[in-house]
Amino acid sequence: MASMQGIPTQKPHKAGFVSIVGKPNVGKSTLMNALVGERLSIITSKAQTTRHRILGIVNGTFEGTDFQLVYSDTPGIICPQYQLQETMMAAVSGSLEDADVILFVTDLFEQYEAEQIVERLESTATPVLLLLNKTDLATPLQLAEKQAYWQERFPAWKQLPVSALHRLGLEAVFAAILDAIPVHPPYYDKDQLTDRPERFFAAEIIREKIFLNYKKEVPYSCEVVVMEFRETEELIRIQTEIFVERTTQRIILLGRGGEAIKQVGMQARQEMEAFFQKQVHLETYVRVEPDWRKKALKLREFGYLND
Ligand code: GDP
Ligand code: MG
Repeated sequence: MASMQGIPTQKPHKAGFVSIVGKPNVGKSTLMNALVGERLSIITSKAQTTRHRILGIVNGTFEGTDFQLVYSDTPGIICPQYQLQETMMAAVSGSLEDADVILFVTDLFEQYEAEQIVERLESTATPVLLLLNKTDLATPLQLAEKQAYWQERFPAWKQLPVSALHRLGLEAVFAAILDAIPVHPPYYDKDQLTDRPERFFAAEIIREKIFLNYKKEVPYSCEVVVMEFRETEELIRIQTEIFVERTTQRIILLGRGGEAIKQVGMQARQEMEAFFQKQVHLETYVRVEPDWRKKALKLREFGYLND
């Protein structure tokens, strides 16, 4: 047998979910913009479509290792009014456990006593990176005091002082994230994301609006497919089909006189226009397709679906 020694091996691919948590106003959105790039992070609707609400996906290479980072947040932690609801806390807990690394963002001014966020993070098995944001506003002494406080309280957490606004300390954040995420193949098709991330985000926006506008199991029985995405100088033409399995689901989705689906289309178009920074012409059809789950496999093969 020939020895494998001396043959250069490809470095393994890394991929993971990065959950961003923290109180309002500490700088989470600003940080996301800095980590992901301006455009992708505009998806910030309030819908909780899955346990992971995807904020942005970054593919790249770092010190010879290819990676895919899927940034997401956990709405329950971001909206304090939901914190007391047990179901919401359960969802939050689930998404924290599913994450590969948690970015707990705080600034130098927030106070944390016996709060659920902190208690919940304390008991998670997922690694936590503590980002002390807005260091540009603090004196070295203030920073040192905060660092000592967190160090004593959570010795296991890696602390990273940053200024999201001035993009200071982000290299170290990035390196720490990559260190924490496992060797794993990409979750989302890289070619599709680089070739046409637009389709992906168009479908995500519609999916979100469906979750916002309908109750119960309807959203789960839908598959959104972007059949056509054509961009011209002035506008983008997007044609989507929403597949459902039963006629009753189609009736619910359409609503009386088609009002409900019109609402979805209008909200989606507005968000798409903000996202793509262009006028959008959106057509949405609802089709009954008893076998859509099977058909979805086919569409995925043809590259119409990303996940
Ligand atoms: P979020 O609610 O956690 O998403 O916080 P935002 O990202 O919306 O930021 C809240 C406010 O803090 C905004 O006015 C930001 O410009 C500001 N901010 C965020 N990061 C920094 C920072 O590093 N330094 C300073 N001075 N301001 C920041
Ligand atoms: Mg925000």
